[in-house]
Amino acid sequence: MKIATIGEIHEEGLKLIPKNKFDIIKITDTSPKALIKNLSDVEAIAIRTSNLSSDILSECKNLKIVSRHGVGYDNVDINYLNKKNIPLAITATSNAVSVAEHVLMMMLSLSRKLIKCNSLVKNNLFTEGESISSTYELYKKNILILGFGRIGKVLQKICHGFDMNIYVYDPFISEKDINSYNCKKIEFMEGIEIADYISIHMPLNHSTKNLITKKELKKMKNTCFIINTARGGILNQKDLIWALDNKVIGGAGLDVFTDEPPKKADPILISSNNLILTPHNSALTLECRIRMGIETIKNIISFIEGKPIYSNIINREILT
Ligand code: NAD
Repeated sequence: MKIATIGEIHEEGLKLIPKNKFDIIKITDTSPKALIKNLSDVEAIAIRTSNLSSDILSECKNLKIVSRHGVGYDNVDINYLNKKNIPLAITATSNAVSVAEHVLMMMLSLSRKLIKCNSLVKNNLFTEGESISSTYELYKKNILILGFGRIGKVLQKICHGFDMNIYVYDPFISEKDINSYNCKKIEFMEGIEIADYISIHMPLNHSTKNLITKKELKKMKNTCFIINTARGGILNQKDLIWALDNKVIGGAGLDVFTDEPPKKADPILISSNNLILTPHNSALTLECRIRMGIETIKNIISFIEGKPIYSNIINREILT
């Protein structure tokens, strides 16, 4: 049997593949043409961020499972897989901690104007530090968590350590469940208005695309910091730039973008002190890459051996 890996999978994961049963095909050319050629006879695909469209998948005649290194799966055509009864697995238990810690890093860096402070010291402007006004504590501030799944739940735990007031907007989670984490359920607009920090943790789909636009940004406190580590497009990027340029909000942190990578002339790259950008790597700490590599491969091996990890399979209904 053949397992194709598209993008780097940590050696700790690859080590789990029994070499007497499987050949590993490491694919580096991710152009559609090369993928069609190299995937034509593989049984399993371990995929990072490249696109697996139906055009490519339909040429994979032996395909039995796709295992995604991560939790978002918008790069894989799940409708095609559903039609062909092919499971799509994710690494559900691996990356919540890394992403939530990344959010905390952005919250603290924005609040303390870390990038500005760093550049003052490095540029021999140490004494100007005193003139930086309006840095903030997280202590007792309001955070609105949009989406209370795996990452949202880890983030609330971290925020409790700062004695923050934690508000949650997630129409699919009950008030009782949210209260059991000592957090408060809130309506979307009400949350937007009272938040000092907003962090986005929901999937990108037709109902969450452009969830936050000029209209919502205008309702925020002018000191509010918004952080998006979920998917570009949930927060309208053009409107965010407008809000930052016009000091409608206090600042923003983005790990995800409408276009990835952003084009050279993308206005989002003309970054100011109140905008922190990271290259979609909030889940790429060493610990997390090891966990994701292991979980990606375990999803494949377990399925092939007839013991699927159902909780990781997005379209598990096709298996029953
Ligand atoms: P999850 O599936 O565990 O949780 C998502 C939550 O969003 C669920 O509780 C769901 O009820 C809620 N939700 C869905 N639609 C909503 C809506 N319209 N309004 C409010 N809430 C809604 O997912 P997760 O593992 O917590 O990941 C969250 C997001 O983060 C995903 O988009 C994922 O792709 C992204 N992510 C990004 C990175 C990165 O590297 N930047 C890494 C991991 C995950």
